[in-house]
Amino acid sequence: MKKENFLEINRDFSQLSPEEVLSWALSKFDKERLAFSSSMGAEDQVITHMLKTMGLSISIFTIDTGRLYPETYDLIKRTEQKYGFRYDILEPEQTKVNGMVSEHGENLFYESLELRKMCCHVRKLEPLRKKMFTLDAWICGLRKEQSVTRAEIGKIEWDETFGVVKINPLTDWTEDQVWSYIRKNNIPYHALHDSGYPSIGCAPCTRAIQPGEDVRAGRWWWENPQNRECGLHRGPKKKGNLQ
Ligand code: SF4
Repeated sequence: MKKENFLEINRDFSQLSPEEVLSWALSKFDKERLAFSSSMGAEDQVITHMLKTMGLSISIFTIDTGRLYPETYDLIKRTEQKYGFRYDILEPEQTKVNGMVSEHGENLFYESLELRKMCCHVRKLEPLRKKMFTLDAWICGLRKEQSVTRAEIGKIEWDETFGVVKINPLTDWTEDQVWSYIRKNNIPYHALHDSGYPSIGCAPCTRAIQPGEDVRAGRWWWENPQNRECGLHRGPKKKGNLQ
């Protein structure tokens, strides 16, 4: 995409359904250069269901950081079986993980924000960055109401971190819409969602939330809410025309 006006596209797309946004993405990008990133959350399961039932065949990838819950691996297996595909599983470089752990310890993320970001960088960001070199655009399950860090995301935006287009078909959906769609369509979902975990990442960095807390309050709960992203999803820079 060259010289696209993303603000204008988002205005034009304001009334489009997630399915229409996905169809647009498949018509706009080479399907070998477009992929869907799933972290196995409820929103990701909705998008996986949409892609599979619409017959839109693109790579669906997920990152195995090595610190996931057993229930996450179980969901990967159940989803593959239901929809008849295999996830592209991204993994960190084991030598880098070993070096980090031997220098800073297995649970370095509790020590400081700097060490937490280092762990996310090695286990998530680096494998993702390698994948991004092969893409022009990626699809994500972000929603505006998930947290203060996501309040301004658009359906289509320029991803400054990776230099690709980022497509968020569910940006305007509420949590209720996500769950009624999952129930209506009998979509497999993470077992921990039924135990007070609306947002699930690595096991040591996720806890259940209390009533009234925002849905991402259980992620890196010991940190300031403004810091609670792993670097995969930074807020968009406000730009009009982009190269
Ligand atoms: Fe490491 Fe926690 Fe980030 Fe997972 S979420 S990569 S365990 S700091």
